[in-house]
Amino acid sequence: MNSSQSEKDKNGQFEKDLRLGIMGGVFDPIHIGHLFTAEEARIKFNLHKVIFVPSLQPIHKRNDQITDIKHRLKMTYLATEDNPYFEVSKIEINRPGPSYTIDTVREFRKIYGWQTNIFFITGADAFLEIDTWYKKDELIKLCQFVAATRPGYDLDKLNDNFKKVLKIMEIPALAISSTDIRYRVKNNLNIKYIVLEEVRDYIYKNKLYV
Ligand code: NAP
Repeated sequence: MNSSQSEKDKNGQFEKDLRLGIMGGVFDPIHIGHLFTAEEARIKFNLHKVIFVPSLQPIHKRNDQITDIKHRLKMTYLATEDNPYFEVSKIEINRPGPSYTIDTVREFRKIYGWQTNIFFITGADAFLEIDTWYKKDELIKLCQFVAATRPGYDLDKLNDNFKKVLKIMEIPALAISSTDIRYRVKNNLNIKYIVLEEVRDYIYKNKLYV
């Protein structure tokens, strides 16, 4: 798809009713569960595109537990390049300090216009601590939250008030997790078909997770 055709009107302005998916996560590494989630959200919410935003410095994790951003970013590019509706943004990488979602959403609104409909998509577990998120009340007004869950996920874990504003998508492919992939690599187990081939090659070539 030619993005200028899909997102801009005949005057070259971004469409007023632009629907943008923002796929937030650490992506360490990106796997087919993430890709399926993004594509499913794109179709379900009629999104013009989905932008993957790897976090530089997640709020609740120590930095030394996470693979260098240059590798996570490269794997995210490799995994998304064949889908014309997918993009990767370095917005959180270029912004020093903790990766607050409110700052990311504000920046995208500045770029695409204040009327843009933003859908912030991530794993349901990431929303368990929503009450502690920076400027949560403002953030809830600025975007639609989409939580991806695996089948059988216990929704009672989520805050009741927050659940009312949350869209939930059940994604069977999320039985796969980045944690499991890292464990598999470390223990010489197969990761074929749970990450894209390009990502698998990259992991082996760069000796990640060993
Ligand atoms: P996480 O603890 O790494 O992930 C929580 C769960 O969600 C894991 O099971 C993870 O599986 C899954 N997950 C993560 N990203 C996903 C995605 N895009 N699609 C489907 N499943 C996904 O949580 P996190 O990654 O640090 O946080 C997720 C997002 O929320 C990030 O964009 C982060 O910046 C944002 N966040 C913001 C604040 C704040 O603004 N204060 C606080 C917390 C989180 P995998 O391990 O397989 O990915």
